[in-house]
Amino acid sequence: MTEPLRCIVELATGPCRGNSLAVEADGGVRCLTHATDPVRVRRREERNLKGGLARLRVLELDTKPPDLSSIRSMRRGLETVMHAMVTGTLDERIGRAVIEGYRVGAALGSLELQRIISDLERRLGLRAGKSA
Ligand SMILES: [Zn+2]
Repeated sequence: MTEPLRCIVELATGPCRGNSLAVEADGGVRCLTHATDPVRVRRREERNLKGGLARLRVLELDTKPPDLSSIRSMRRGLETVMHAMVTGTLDERIGRAVIEGYRVGAALGSLELQRIISDLERRLGLRAGKSA
């Protein structure tokens, strides 16, 4: 009986037991994870990308889009995202990206508020400006 094919890579824990074996151009048998042939490397990258996206935990497609128009709506959005992250229904990377979006929204709101205050100060003659 012939030995079953096995990946030639030795791991710290012993021989690799990976599957999707193939004899590569250099004559070595490698699993897809340890593949060195460019075509198989590309296949591995595609596999990893698909697997990563499929495992990503996201909210339902009909989830309301973020509303940055008010402090109340931003607070509600943050609460939803934080709850989803804490309960494990939303991938942490997506949650962090959304929270960063709210942070930018808050910064934009702050700039808007500064502009309004500056306009009021100019109108009241408290600050030198172009308007009356
Ligand atoms: Zn391997």
